Amino acid sequence: MANQAIEQRINDFMAKIIAKNPGEKEFHQAVKEVAESLIPFIEENPKYKTAKILERIAEPERVILFRVPWTDDKGEIQINKGYRIEMNSAIGPYKGGLRFHPTVNLGILKFLAFEQVFKNSLTTLPMGGGKGGSDFDPKGKSDNEVMRFCQSFMTELSRHIGPDTDVPAGDIGVGGREIGYLFGQYKRLRNEFTGVLTGKGLEWGGSLVRPEATGYGAVYFAQEMLKTRNLDFKGKIIAISGSGNVAQYATEKATQLGAKVVTLSDSDGYIYDPKGIDAEKLAFVMNLKNIRRGRIREYCDKYAEAKYFAGKRPWEVKCDIALPCATQNEIEGDDAKILIKNDCLCISEGANMPSTPEAIELYLSKKILYGPGKAANAGGVATSGLEMSQNSMRMSWSREEVDAKLHTIMINIHKNCMKWGTESDGFINYVKGANIGGFVKVAEAMLAQGLV
Ligand code: NDP
Repeated sequence: MANQAIEQRINDFMAKIIAKNPGEKEFHQAVKEVAESLIPFIEENPKYKTAKILERIAEPERVILFRVPWTDDKGEIQINKGYRIEMNSAIGPYKGGLRFHPTVNLGILKFLAFEQVFKNSLTTLPMGGGKGGSDFDPKGKSDNEVMRFCQSFMTELSRHIGPDTDVPAGDIGVGGREIGYLFGQYKRLRNEFTGVLTGKGLEWGGSLVRPEATGYGAVYFAQEMLKTRNLDFKGKIIAISGSGNVAQYATEKATQLGAKVVTLSDSDGYIYDPKGIDAEKLAFVMNLKNIRRGRIREYCDKYAEAKYFAGKRPWEVKCDIALPCATQNEIEGDDAKILIKNDCLCISEGANMPSTPEAIELYLSKKILYGPGKAANAGGVATSGLEMSQNSMRMSWSREEVDAKLHTIMINIHKNCMKWGTESDGFINYVKGANIGGFVKVAEAMLAQGLV
């Protein structure tokens, strides 16, 4: 099909998506990126076109919206919104995290659930796609307030999830503490101890390496990309954004591989430490963010060699490898230009959709190594899948076993991206590779299961 006709198909498809899902700009953005890779492929494979597989994937199987009332420490009633998007169950139970953040809305959760369908398929494990959360902001709340919120949220959510139906996990604002409160309430309501959530504590059904998995996985994926150009992490300068779960373990693994991580950030600004964030400094960050729940600028009170840049993103720092691990659309076109000007070799996305379409276009035009989130950060959900397997077998695997399985999965995701994304000049377009690689398995399952 001629390029112009393909472009017309993409435009027509997107016009319908925008009309059906008004105002959901992140969802439009995520669907467009996938449609651009998939529509040319679908035109060559008419069985997917006739069955309208892409149109069906872009429509959630079910959207659950609910009220979450709770009482704060002053006795005042608070009301938040609760959501669960059950996007696609063709290859397994819905699976995907819960996000608690004031910016959460339907469009953001639909973009995340849509990406999750492709990501989960890429892991090779039997998991469908879902996502959920609330506009609740855990920041500044006491443990008791977080617990009461989680209990109220789960009271409704428990009607819709289950170990063979829908298995949520953590995401922004939902870490070990929140998963604990959510699990406790589910168990109490249902009177059953099952693997209904992943990211659980080790003592109560969690998997070793689950906390590390997303950050480690993004580094393993970058390692595979670098290998295609005979490069590795040793001696490289790394810029990381975020300072939460994903950023912390990306820092740990990159440092273990001999690289120097020089930045971390939060939504207020970033710190630059030219000497590198070594294991001891990382332990300080983990305590600061996970226990004291403080701000990243406090790093500079402790380490005089570091500087804090309020209201800025770390991409202006010269680096060889960038690992965005905070949130969506945190690398815009201008940030990408600076990264490229500074000879950044490789971008591996720990976060979901951190690069805007303009940034992605620049990476691809300069043919730099670019691993999109749905491939590069799939290690988290893959290890959640391993947690589900261990729960079903009532067994737990050793750290080495889980890490080895995670590493193998990331290598295989990379191979799958190469298979579908290698272009005629040898350049690997990981965007195309991840989109087509993730699509085919789901599409075949949907064809086999009929019009449901
Ligand atoms: P955390 O809540 O542990 O950490 C999030 C980090 O990102 C914090 O440092 C936070 O700063 C920062 N951040 C959040 N929102 C913004 C914003 N609007 N602007 C700038 N910084 C922001 O979350 P995770 O580490 O779990 O998640 C990070 C990313 O990784 C997300 O995109 C998530 O979807 C993705 N991801 C996570 C997985 C997981 O297993 N946890 C799996 C796959 C992807 P602050 O404290 O100021 O809010």
